[in-house]
Amino acid sequence: RKATVAIVGRPNVGKSTLFNKIVGTRVSIVDDTPGVTRDRIYMEAEWTGRRFMLIDTGGIEPATDDEILKGMRTQAEIAIERADCVILMTNIHEGLTAADADVAAMLMKAGKPTVLAVNKVDSGGQPPMDFYEFYNLGLGDPVAISSTHGLGVGDLLDEVFAKI
Ligand code: GDP
Ligand code: MG
Repeated sequence: RKATVAIVGRPNVGKSTLFNKIVGTRVSIVDDTPGVTRDRIYMEAEWTGRRFMLIDTGGIEPATDDEILKGMRTQAEIAIERADCVILMTNIHEGLTAADADVAAMLMKAGKPTVLAVNKVDSGGQPPMDFYEFYNLGLGDPVAISSTHGLGVGDLLDEVFAKI
């Protein structure tokens, strides 16, 4: 079967924006309001000549704190079952959250290859100090990206393919 990569993360971190950037079209709905990715979306994508399936696990994303964790756990379960590698997405604006740590632990426990992406790092060069807190998740080197600008997305996919 084709290599499958799933994007998991809190509502509004930028999963659908990254998904669209990678597949090259606006398939997944991007919105400021958490909860707008209507369904799980699967699309074929290509990186350096390798075809793979990409999943935006967003689904119907809840907006309340207790529901967010539940939603993320469901995303992670789907990713553990279906994907060869998971992109756990966070963002620099909101920083590291307890839900991120919970899901990181789930993925590690399952032994699922995971790459940690820190989105919304919109300026190139040295990442801001807040970036370094993401090392605390224990998933290795976080990759700074800007999904809207496309910065770091190639590095992220290189990391993903290094783990598949
Ligand atoms: P999702 O809920 O995780 O799927 O997040 P979306 O892709 O819908 O994005 C949520 C909001 O964050 C939208 O307003 C996006 O335009 C914005 N966003 C996504 N990626 C970036 C980024 O790299 N930089 C900035 N500044 N905003 C972003
Ligand atoms: Mg979405």
